[in-house]
Amino acid sequence: MSKITKGRKAAYYTGMALIALGFILFISTFISVASHINDPLSFIDGRGTPPFANSVIGIILIIIGSVVMSIGARGPAGSGLLLDPKKAREDLKPFSEAKGEMINDVISNIDAVDRIVKSSEAKEVIKIKCRNCGALNDEDAKFCKNCGREL
Ligand SMILES: [Zn+2]
Repeated sequence: MSKITKGRKAAYYTGMALIALGFILFISTFISVASHINDPLSFIDGRGTPPFANSVIGIILIIIGSVVMSIGARGPAGSGLLLDPKKAREDLKPFSEAKGEMINDVISNIDAVDRIVKSSEAKEVIKIKCRNCGALNDEDAKFCKNCGREL
């Protein structure tokens, strides 16, 4: 069972943090603008200069974060950063294995149901009908459990 490496996990969560940070920066620009909207002079004298640079940095962080996140999740080759189909298969192995396990689970469930059906059928076959009274007896029974006659 192959696992996602620690480095890839770290990249995944770093990317997630970058997206969150970028989002906060992006939103903060609009909050800043909104907080100065009642004081138009503040835009002119510089006190309320909206941090537009922050929103640009925010968008860049979101883009970088999502790239880093997808590299972390799928690996450098699996995410398409490296064009190496062989390596991509290796990178995506934890996911394809998980898919395989899900399919195995379904198959084993079908198997279990099949076994129950077969075993209940088998039980029917093993029973022996008494020639005297018609009661159903176990295959290995010497005498009928109903009337006591030898089978
Ligand atoms: Zn009998």
